[in-house]
Amino acid sequence: MSSQWIYLDDRFVKKEDAVVSVFDHGFLYGDGVFEGLRAYNGNIFKLHEHIERLYQSAQSIMLHLPYSKEEMEDVIVETIRRNKLETAYIRVVVSRGPGNLGLDPVNCTKPNVIVIAEPLALFPQELYQRGLKMGSVASRRNRPDVLSPQVKSLNYLNNILVKLEANQAGVDEALMLNDQGYVTEGSADNIFIVKNKKIFTPPVYLGALEGITRNAIIDLASELDYSISETPFTRHDVYTADEVFLTGTAVEVIAVVDVDGRVISDGIPGEITNHLLTEFRKIVTVDGVHCYPAEKVNAV
Ligand code: PMP
Repeated sequence: MSSQWIYLDDRFVKKEDAVVSVFDHGFLYGDGVFEGLRAYNGNIFKLHEHIERLYQSAQSIMLHLPYSKEEMEDVIVETIRRNKLETAYIRVVVSRGPGNLGLDPVNCTKPNVIVIAEPLALFPQELYQRGLKMGSVASRRNRPDVLSPQVKSLNYLNNILVKLEANQAGVDEALMLNDQGYVTEGSADNIFIVKNKKIFTPPVYLGALEGITRNAIIDLASELDYSISETPFTRHDVYTADEVFLTGTAVEVIAVVDVDGRVISDGIPGEITNHLLTEFRKIVTVDGVHCYPAEKVNAV
């Protein structure tokens, strides 16, 4: 029997018992929202920001969460404690809940709130030393006026399709453009380029999720006195950049060394990318919500 505790429908259950109805509209229609967070040594990085984004996603799709933001944070902290984890990946899912086979959410009366915390499967350090290969894909990023990339919804087919394209092309990650050909982001990460020591990332209105790591890197880069700005750019700018890197909860900061077969600079992770990764890893254990004051751990 698994020792993993999952928060599901107002209580903690064992992994084996963590099952949801086949009539849940999250399953039937991708109708719901989610968040992915990370705890570093008992410190949940940017917990408030993730909760804020979760509630904004929910607000946008008229999904009423049954808890206050504070209660939701408590549930997340408690999930880590129950599982005796200090370094973890945390997934929060809020689905529309069980209804019937009809599309109309009016039949779904109770959202399902799920929190899963697992030991973190770290990206191999070798990938950070080598850097990733990226390829642009034919599928365009969802238009913000159709399904906004700011809604972190359970409908991730746009991202899954581009990941499949990247797999087919034999590259590590997909470069998604918007319908005008401007660079937006990767399948699950934001993109930055460096040119003449200046750092650029696309404005989110072009079709990128406003990543929490992205925002942390914008703040960090400014604190480190780099010039950093949100500027539209095209594939040409990526191909001719001095450095390219991605950010996200899972990857943190990772270099891209090849885009559509164009080797970026000398084909190894760049100086600024490495600097930002090093400094980012210093702040993650400080700049967040500490869920492991020693006395509380012992009380579990
Ligand atoms: N873009 C997309 C499409 C994503 O799914 C993610 C992962 N949440 C990101 C960017 C990076 O966002 P964050 O830094 O908040 O993890």
